[in-house]
Amino acid sequence: MEESTGTQARNVVKGAELPVVIAGGGPAGAATAIALSGMGYKSVIVDPGTPVAVKAGESLPPNILHLLQQLDIQHLLQDAAHQINLGNTVVWGSDEVLDRVFLAEPWGNGWHLNRLVFEQQLKSEAERRGAVWMDGGIVTGVEGKQGAMRVSVRSDSGRADQKLDACFVVDASGRHSSVLRSLGVSRHRLDDITAVCAFVTAPGHRLQSTTFVEAVQDGWWYAAPLGGDRVVLNLMTDIGLRPKTGEGKSDMLLRRLKQTMYLHERLGNFAGMGFEEVFAKPAGTSCADRISGDGWLAVGDAACTYDPLSSYGITSAIGGGIYAAYAISDALSGNSHALDAYNHVQQQTFNNCVAMLAHQYRQESRFSEKVFWQRRYL
Ligand SMILES: Cc1cc2nc3c(=O)[nH]c(=O)nc-3n(C[C@H](O)[C@H](O)[C@H](O)COP(=O)(O)OP(=O)(O)OC[C@H]3O[C@@H](n4cnc5c(N)ncnc54)[C@H](O)[C@@H]3O)c2cc1C
Repeated sequence: MEESTGTQARNVVKGAELPVVIAGGGPAGAATAIALSGMGYKSVIVDPGTPVAVKAGESLPPNILHLLQQLDIQHLLQDAAHQINLGNTVVWGSDEVLDRVFLAEPWGNGWHLNRLVFEQQLKSEAERRGAVWMDGGIVTGVEGKQGAMRVSVRSDSGRADQKLDACFVVDASGRHSSVLRSLGVSRHRLDDITAVCAFVTAPGHRLQSTTFVEAVQDGWWYAAPLGGDRVVLNLMTDIGLRPKTGEGKSDMLLRRLKQTMYLHERLGNFAGMGFEEVFAKPAGTSCADRISGDGWLAVGDAACTYDPLSSYGITSAIGGGIYAAYAISDALSGNSHALDAYNHVQQQTFNNCVAMLAHQYRQESRFSEKVFWQRRYL
């Protein structure tokens, strides 16, 4: 195991120097590792690595910069792969198009993220600061207690399980929440909203540097420019996702796009439009029943998932990673309340966010008779 650069590794437990093992190398896992290395802790990140799952294409609010600064990685968003996001253009609650720009924000503009580039950047930063990145592994189980945890890792080549000794284990495996599952922690799901995502080329589209959101009878659309002709489209719904007989997913999406009031025009009325990829992803809101315990905690989507309407997922992953590192450090230093406090704060944040989401959904009353919206009001 390499020493962390420039800092003295401190996770020396009972005479043995054990790392914090992190399951999952998305934004939450990488942020936790970067924050831990800043405090002098060693970490090992286990991630399947390849093939990389198709990612949704996210928007980041301006205040993400404040969190990135804490990790000294604010420069990552200056990469030309990420597009500037000036705010939201919304058709929500009325038939009018409203621009809600970030002008009043002290942090300036937001971003439309190139997610794959962002993950590579985070990985390089974590490694540069001394974290060990184990690509090609999947955490399958965890046992033990703080200071003496044992993590089972299966390589995706199917070889026999490897065992890693750890002083602490972090579940950053996203919606899989693999560590929590292996510990028997269940999950409270508030809804089953699904995103049908598409990366398209739309020559002549008129989406400006904002996130375009349009509410429709059985869900809502999200569209963002990715540079040049490329656009990411997401239909968030839980209604009527089954394509008609003989209809493919992209035809289904096109049929439903035609029913929008404004979005189809912003896409140039589909002239020359081509679908690169269409896929469905779960996007519902959920929270683990327990977010920390003796020798482990969960961070990011593994702890709580948020409806994309909140645009809070990556902020939660990065901010949660920073807080997780403090909680781990405190717990390893003998503060017996640190993990309970972490659990409490994460669940409280989740409850606040759910209340804000309900409020946002209630702002749209044009479709209040429709099942999708009635489910959201609950
Ligand atoms: C359609 C959609 C739109 C969204 N839009 C936005 C948005 O606009 N803004 C925003 O902020 N958020 C958005 N989100 C949410 C955001 O994508 C997530 O909150 C964010 O990716 C969570 O990061 P994470 O690191 O917790 O998990 P992930 O990004 O899921 O990373 C988890 C990692 O763990 C790995 N892994 C899984 N199982 C294991 C295992 N057993 N062992 C080891 N590794 C494992 C995975 O391969 C992956 O690399 C959106 C989500 C969806 C579905």
